[in-house]
Amino acid sequence: MDDATPLTAGRSAVPAVGPTVGLDIGGTKTLAVLLDAAGATVAQARLATERGPRGVVAGAARAVRGVARQAGIDLVDVVGVGVGMPGLVDPAAGTVRHAVNVGVDGSPLALAELLGDALGGIPVGLENDLNVAALGAAHLEATAAGVPGARVDLAFLALGTGLAAGLVLDGELRRGFGGAAGEIGHVPVDPTGPVCPCGQRGCLELYASGTAVARLWPSGSGRPAPVELFEAAERGVPAAVEARDVYASAVAAAVRMLVLTVDVQHVVLGGGVAQLGEPLLDAVRAALARESRASGFLSSLHLADRVRLAPGRVPVGAVGAAVVGRSVAGRAPLNGMAS
Ligand SMILES: [Zn+2]
Repeated sequence: MDDATPLTAGRSAVPAVGPTVGLDIGGTKTLAVLLDAAGATVAQARLATERGPRGVVAGAARAVRGVARQAGIDLVDVVGVGVGMPGLVDPAAGTVRHAVNVGVDGSPLALAELLGDALGGIPVGLENDLNVAALGAAHLEATAAGVPGARVDLAFLALGTGLAAGLVLDGELRRGFGGAAGEIGHVPVDPTGPVCPCGQRGCLELYASGTAVARLWPSGSGRPAPVELFEAAERGVPAAVEARDVYASAVAAAVRMLVLTVDVQHVVLGGGVAQLGEPLLDAVRAALARESRASGFLSSLHLADRVRLAPGRVPVGAVGAAVVGRSVAGRAPLNGMAS
């Protein structure tokens, strides 16, 4: 596996060599973007995800061709493709397994190899969905600052079904020794709390994930629970104000944990709950400010200023996947590494 090591390094600070395509394959939809050699997003597309091993490969190939056509670029000129996937992704081998919500289970799917073959030999890189989101946020931040390829330092905190952070530290994706970097959702914060599906008690995920919002404030209308909660709090319903502040404090705890362990410059809020936008950001910043007041040490870290929202109009994960595409460009396609 030694020859695969370079695949795991330098995901974001790669010289531009040509256009790349990124795919963010989710349970229901696949988002595709094409980045030009300078790293600007020049085309995006959205398709229904095809399920099962064959469906995933065929659907991904169709998405790459489609977004290239939309950008007016011949497939042969695409220098790399990156894919973000849910499930257990092995970036070095280019395989994914246990991606149950896209119908990939059982034996690992050699997606990088199969998709590369389907696209006539374009190198393909694979990463999990959280890591591509972190890479995408870093890329967009560097681009917005006018310094493409800058060594951005951030955590992408996904507030979804679960709770976890993707880390880009000093410009490099940090997966960790065992791939568990950023899994702060399973840090126990209440030893007397309920049992978590992971087997521990009182994990942070039980308080700060999107699922936790639904537990705090079950939706009465079928709309997302976070929307109902924040609207009720906005109207001044006392129980909703209290529940919103309890939730914001839990997210603030996640932000604090990330800054106190890796001291990232920015913590980017993403995932389903982050679609609330400014009201969420305001509530989390207020909680951080409130809780920092009694501590000169915490105040000195300016936690509230470090938090921001993931860009709303850009498919962050697909952009990050295209950044993975830049990191594999020029490499020989994977083959024979997985069965
Ligand atoms: Zn847990």
